[in-house]
Amino acid sequence: MSLEHFNTSGNHYDELIENEPILKSVCKVIDSWNKPVYLIGGYVRDFILQRPTKDIDIVVLGDGIKLAKAVSDSLHQSSFSVFKNYGTAMIKLNDIEVQFVGARKESYSRNSRNPIVSPGSLKEDQNRRDFTINALAISLNGNSKGSFVDPFNGVKDLKNGIIKTPLNPTETFSDDPLRMLRAIRFTSQLGFIISDETFEGITKNAERINIVAQERITDELNKIIMSDYPSLGFKLLEKTNLLTHIFPEFQALKGVDTINGKKHKDNFYHTLEVLENILEKSTSNLWLRWAVLLHDIAKPATKRFDHTQGWTFHGHDDKGAKMVPKIFKRMKLPLDDNMRYVQKLVLLHLRPISLTNDQITDSALRRLLFEAGDDLEDLMCLCQSDITSKNIEKKQRYLKRFEVVQKKLKEVEERDKIKNWQPPISGKEIMDTLNLSPGKEVGQIKEGIKNAILDGVIKNDTKEARDFMLKLAKSKGIL
Ligand code: ATP
Ligand code: MG
Repeated sequence: MSLEHFNTSGNHYDELIENEPILKSVCKVIDSWNKPVYLIGGYVRDFILQRPTKDIDIVVLGDGIKLAKAVSDSLHQSSFSVFKNYGTAMIKLNDIEVQFVGARKESYSRNSRNPIVSPGSLKEDQNRRDFTINALAISLNGNSKGSFVDPFNGVKDLKNGIIKTPLNPTETFSDDPLRMLRAIRFTSQLGFIISDETFEGITKNAERINIVAQERITDELNKIIMSDYPSLGFKLLEKTNLLTHIFPEFQALKGVDTINGKKHKDNFYHTLEVLENILEKSTSNLWLRWAVLLHDIAKPATKRFDHTQGWTFHGHDDKGAKMVPKIFKRMKLPLDDNMRYVQKLVLLHLRPISLTNDQITDSALRRLLFEAGDDLEDLMCLCQSDITSKNIEKKQRYLKRFEVVQKKLKEVEERDKIKNWQPPISGKEIMDTLNLSPGKEVGQIKEGIKNAILDGVIKNDTKEARDFMLKLAKSKGIL
């Protein structure tokens, strides 16, 4: 979208209140308020960029809570909450949140990103904001109603696609290091660039990211991952030295070693290429994107050079899957089914493509279907995106094999229905029939029956499975 013709001296008030019904009602009350009130920050930015937003920030020169109460009383069925300590109040209507704050200035101490806050002017309130594009305000009442207050040329930076701090970048980032991640997040969401001085301010302060709570870091990281240009975000995280502090395992993927003239690929750039490939196929699955980021995470730890084979990364799938819970725990990501999904995809990511032609047997395919279950489609998506070889001939060969496996998986699934399959004999039946108490032997017999069916030794049938169970028990001396 072109912002060439967006005019800050023009009045966009009508457009603004037409843009959002709740704003129309809010502005009715503000109209007759006796102190200046402004719309500020992200909402103004996104209004100009025509991006949808659900949070609206309103700054008041005076008692923000009092105004918020008056607005809330005028809106029926909205929820109203006050945060006295922060001097803020929030109104929620449907999925829209409107926050009212008194204009404030801030001062920081060295050890915390939580400032000491005191009442201030609009200018002081704009000074404390992180980027010029986030410091824009629009007056909502009085003679200046509808006019822009843009002391740092934020509209110009929006037009030119530039992220820049209003004040000295080194101080801005030192005061609140989370802003460094926000800079990169906006860059990857909007496809903007960071100005040179602002970039330098980040590199100087990268280490200070360590004073920020992990939850906030992870929140920004997830926003970068879900943005339109996540690989741009990761390249900037790396260039500014932030990556090594917030995601050292990912930083370790960077670099190429050469022995006897043989190189391996740079797994940092490879992973970002896979991420770009997957964006074309799936747009909104955060956990699939995490699986991409982590699919080769154990390559540095498993890297070996062998004089006959060259560079190898044997077992990086297995080791990578084991690293997933540790990384999730440190990142304070949920340790739930989403984590197990990521773990499964990392573990299986080589399987579809590693089957050579004569290994693409029904039994291998059944095993893959069984292990991937409902996540097969996502696994195949990851696997196909993972084919990034620069060597065209090699790439074609892999893609061809991928297609063969894909087609055969479909045939086997249609015939044998393995994806959501449960073996026909439960652990309880094994224990009851063979008079066993819970323990290793029950597990072994259960596994034996499952393998016999997946390998095609017996049919997927209760009678055959029962006979097989008895045979297995005899051979183990249980019967
Ligand atoms: P988004 O809503 O997409 O996360 P945003 O810029 O609107 O982006 P919010 O957290 O909603 O972010 O904050 C609203 C506004 O508050 C920002 O636009 C900015 O002016 C200011 N702000 C938020 N966080 C900071 C910060 N860490 N330092 C300085 N100003 C900030
Ligand atoms: Mg916002």
